[in-house]
Amino acid sequence: MLPGFPELLPDELLYSALARYGDHMRFRNPGVLANHVFGRRLVPAVWDLPGRLGQLASTIGRGVTAARLAEKHTLLPYYAWPVRAERRRVVFEAMVNETARRPRFLLGLVAAKVGQPKGLRFCRLCVASDRRVFGEPYWHRAHQLPGVTICPHHDTALILDREPAVPSSRYRYLPLRRSSLTVGPPPAPARHDLHLAVSGLSFAVLKGRAPDLDPVGYRATLAALGYVSSGGWLRHAPFFTALADVLDEKVVAACGCGNPREWGPELLRRTRRRASGGHPLHHILLQIALRQIGTHVPIRGPLLAVPASPGAVDQAELARRRARWLTVIAMHGGEGSKAMRRQEPAAYAWLYRHDRRWLAAHCPRRHGRQARPVRVDWATRDRELALAVEGVVAAEMEGIRRPTRLTVTRMATAIGAATMWRRNRAHLPRLTAALRVHSESRLAAAERRLKWVLSMATADSVGPPDWVAARMAGLRPDAAQVLLGKHAGPHKPGVV
Ligand SMILES: [Zn+2]
Repeated sequence: MLPGFPELLPDELLYSALARYGDHMRFRNPGVLANHVFGRRLVPAVWDLPGRLGQLASTIGRGVTAARLAEKHTLLPYYAWPVRAERRRVVFEAMVNETARRPRFLLGLVAAKVGQPKGLRFCRLCVASDRRVFGEPYWHRAHQLPGVTICPHHDTALILDREPAVPSSRYRYLPLRRSSLTVGPPPAPARHDLHLAVSGLSFAVLKGRAPDLDPVGYRATLAALGYVSSGGWLRHAPFFTALADVLDEKVVAACGCGNPREWGPELLRRTRRRASGGHPLHHILLQIALRQIGTHVPIRGPLLAVPASPGAVDQAELARRRARWLTVIAMHGGEGSKAMRRQEPAAYAWLYRHDRRWLAAHCPRRHGRQARPVRVDWATRDRELALAVEGVVAAEMEGIRRPTRLTVTRMATAIGAATMWRRNRAHLPRLTAALRVHSESRLAAAERRLKWVLSMATADSVGPPDWVAARMAGLRPDAAQVLLGKHAGPHKPGVV
């Protein structure tokens, strides 16, 4: 087991977890990190289809398997969508045992000539939300899919961080840094509807929610649209003219794809031979185009609705999101739900997906043109917000993630009520009390971090030496002196 290796977060790239690990451990030299996790010093840092997953899974331990790493934390489910099960197995084996270059060849990605993104990308709103929920931002898989320019959760333009792509960082795992966040958002792309459709369908493919590709299905659709002659031949000229009409040239170029007249015929020849394969992005663009040609209506949303998954909702998360939405109502309730949605798109999107009935009950309707002043029920709000604080504290104390100090500001921000609390403290006595009770001293937080670091060593009963534990817990020298004496126990040998 690897002490201090962070919990892999939802939809996190494996690359990102390795970067966070290196960052927490303050490894300056990439060779040291590679040696720790792969057992050798020169391993290229690959974010889409990394290799040596078998070695990595056994180093991490804690029940992590190579299959889970590949399915949940690499782009394998996306890239393997068009290929058959046998080929997918071969690719997976290559990722488990070998180095990084082979999977791309095995999947035919090198031949497809789809432009690779020039660095890793992130969404500002996801960063803010990850900070609140997990204490630090991370690289999401969904943002790194080729052709995707919009966050599928927030409908906002993704920002490119070029640093991880420069040649000197070939062996480095770079975490999502604070400095990246000062980059301004890119201008909104033209044909937002098309970009949104690409993003939605790509995300569905990544999550395994897209239907399997069916070459026969393409053929049937083309025939139904009148593009197949009675002899069974595709009517190339009219079909590609229609395709060019619906797939905006600039959008296709922005996705990193060449002209559909170049890649389209090969894709369709495959369908005639009932062969599998091809680049997922080509299939995605073709499906979007077929739907548009078929319906002659503009695309309004993702091609495939992403189903909500009830039962998987974390109660603490639910309390936080509800509290956030209530805050928005308090501040912008008079302006109608559209304006409120603009204020807090993340909370709206999340609640829409997981808690639609509650959201509907908490979206004020506008009465005529004149907005009525909102009468605030402070007693209820005070109770709900105090409860939301308990949710934040409970999530922090679960100890799944590296502890972060609970301060009044952090808790108030986490429930989205920092400004409201500052301005209306007199109306919110319960919230004030809850914030005061749960706020921690620096030493108490340091102690929690140390315990968390030590708790990870109990599984194999050999703990890290004092100086490693202190370093992993980020203890200042004075805190280290007080705490290490106190926590010397049977699970910690205390050898320096
Ligand atoms: Zn986002």
